[in-house]
Amino acid sequence: MKLMKPFDPLYCICESNFSLKTSKHYEGVFTQGSGYLHIRGSFEEGLEGANQNEEYMRLPANVTIEKPRHPISKWGTYVPGITGIHPLLKEEIVNLPYVLFFKLFANGNPLDMSSSRISNYQRVLDMRDGLLYREFDWEVDDNTTVKCEFTRFVSLARKNLVVQRMNFRVLKGKCKLKFISGIYEKVKTNGYNHFTSVKKRIIGRDCLVELVTDNDDIVLMASRTFSDMAEFKDNSSKEQATSVILNENESVSVNKLSAVVTSKDEKGSLNECASANHLVENAYLNPLSENAYLSFDNLRQQLDDAERKFEQLYSEHESYWDARWERSKVEIEGDDRAQLAVNFSIYHLLRAANPENSKVAVCAKGFAGEAYFGHFFWDTEIYLMPFFIYTNPDTAKALAEFRINTLDGAMRNAEKYGYNGAKYPWESSLTGDEQCPNWQYADHEVHINADVVFGLWHYYSATEDEDFLIKAAPVFVETARYWISRVEFRSDGSVNLNGVMGPDEYTCFSNNNAYTNMMVSWALKKTVEIVRHIKETNKNAYSLLKITDEEIERFREAAQKLPVLTLDNKVILQCEGFDRFEELDFEKIWTDRKKPFGQFASQERLYRSKALKQADVLMLPFLFPNYLNQEELAANYDYYFKYTTHDSSLSSIVHSILCCRMGRIKDAYDLFIKSLDIDLDENKAGAAEGVHIANCGGIWQAIVFGFAGMLPSYESGQVSFNPRLPESWKSLKFNIMFRGENYRVQIVPDKVTVERRS
Ligand code: BGC
Repeated sequence: MKLMKPFDPLYCICESNFSLKTSKHYEGVFTQGSGYLHIRGSFEEGLEGANQNEEYMRLPANVTIEKPRHPISKWGTYVPGITGIHPLLKEEIVNLPYVLFFKLFANGNPLDMSSSRISNYQRVLDMRDGLLYREFDWEVDDNTTVKCEFTRFVSLARKNLVVQRMNFRVLKGKCKLKFISGIYEKVKTNGYNHFTSVKKRIIGRDCLVELVTDNDDIVLMASRTFSDMAEFKDNSSKEQATSVILNENESVSVNKLSAVVTSKDEKGSLNECASANHLVENAYLNPLSENAYLSFDNLRQQLDDAERKFEQLYSEHESYWDARWERSKVEIEGDDRAQLAVNFSIYHLLRAANPENSKVAVCAKGFAGEAYFGHFFWDTEIYLMPFFIYTNPDTAKALAEFRINTLDGAMRNAEKYGYNGAKYPWESSLTGDEQCPNWQYADHEVHINADVVFGLWHYYSATEDEDFLIKAAPVFVETARYWISRVEFRSDGSVNLNGVMGPDEYTCFSNNNAYTNMMVSWALKKTVEIVRHIKETNKNAYSLLKITDEEIERFREAAQKLPVLTLDNKVILQCEGFDRFEELDFEKIWTDRKKPFGQFASQERLYRSKALKQADVLMLPFLFPNYLNQEELAANYDYYFKYTTHDSSLSSIVHSILCCRMGRIKDAYDLFIKSLDIDLDENKAGAAEGVHIANCGGIWQAIVFGFAGMLPSYESGQVSFNPRLPESWKSLKFNIMFRGENYRVQIVPDKVTVERRS
């Protein structure tokens, strides 16, 4: 195996047998990316029978889920920010042409992993450097065997560059190898064509593709394929081809470099890329833009710059990954399974986010698939941001700024409903306009508006970045204005928030949902606090908020009066009347626990029963560890746990953390393991449509907020640790950034050491 670093089983995900049952799952697991560009872990040559240009309309299978059409393979190449317009789904991320494309023929036979005779197969993702390596022996015919090796990475040093190296050695016989390379442009975004124009051209070793999406985004892609032994030429079918004849023990190596630029690129976002700003006159195809950056001259210049030894490109890339891991690493002694899964989570979190671009956030599938259409959810603030806040605050800041940048969209949403202020969308587009195609969520899952504010405050409380707070203040004020027009102030003096969906999406329409009310109340109080702080410290910024004393008084009143209902003063009621919802016989209905409960009960039944998709009330003690005392926490946990199906991947990990806080370590560990399996259990093939990135962030939180017992900064203005390690963990170590300082936290069963690092 030829990884660039010595094999480490704790940092390498291995696929040791190829199977059509799990091929699509591994495409998700093996997704590579740089924040700017993401590519699913598909084979360079594709798979027989997995047509990538089939057209069909994505129709829902039920209220939220659509039936995926590609059971064995779906290529995915995404630049966050490049979107198209879908008639049913509104804006969605676009699957771009496939730059990895590389077909191999031996003695006239095409390589296909599902039908070719393959042995000694292994595919490995090294998560330390994001390198994907595949090797196998291909028995071409009775007299010929070729050893094939494919290596690739998306450069973190030049974030729009993909580097591929292929090596072929004849182990037996004599063989004519033919290669076809270039860019395959006929891909669809899960069956739907978003390209209004695609042009492709071959110039020498370079394949150039220029396209426009139906959202008017322009994308230019260029790839260059080269080898010491053979020259790639235009084979007149808009692909490049070459062939070599090798005797036994002879080998050939082929390199391919590809680069992408788009009309959405932030100025300076690719500034680590040597010649991104190279100024030239011409574009090769139709000069779509006067912009010299957006030209093939620029792209080809970038390839010229990058055309150096694979090892050199690798080493500049590796140093970026090393630096990220250094900040983010979690080390668990005594539990290799957990260690590998945590590394997997951290790898995908680091890959998916882009600290240099606050015009995008991280979509629900971590840009490793098209489910949820590349939209942004509360997942960002509640599940992802904590990891970034305490390890990579620059990335957390970009995610927080995404919400500040989309305030105008949120104001448009509020206006559409006839409310004041800003309503952040349940599924956000790049502009903050609501993208959720389903009314239930778009109209009612309004807690997102408070979650956004919570995320902004969390970032501020951990950084004390005053400039940021001034920029974020309008989000606090405008969302508060929305709440004031959305809640009901009754003549009897009470305040209610009705017609909402809490985090539990199996209760579609409820009154006074506890989570929503408590979060809104918290957000309103914070708004009052922030406005007062800005009034005292920055008169100018305060006057720009144009806020009146009457408004502040209204915020205070609603915050104080929004009810959180309880049963017997102990158990918080999820919403009005929850105690009268129907009790279900889960044993009888849920006959196959490998499938989600939601597949066994109709939507109508879910909506009126005590069946939770995910944590709802329990989100409160999760986010606010001091909210309930131990007795109250246990009472609430035990009441709701029995009704919770964990059909959402956002659920088990929250319960794991609460079990830690209650000292129920075995339960905490079991739920933690359940969460680790969401993307990593081959049998469940959970990553087929992309990685559950919220769960990845949740796994980090389970270790740091759960087992290490860290209290986040917004609770007391400090961070503190009260660890409860699982029995098998001999030690736990990680780094934390807090208010500009770096700390090393080391925990052994009866001791915590926190050291400031230089
Ligand atoms: C969950 C939501 C989540 C969304 C995206 C849904 O299944 O119920 O809470 O935000 O997935 O991850």
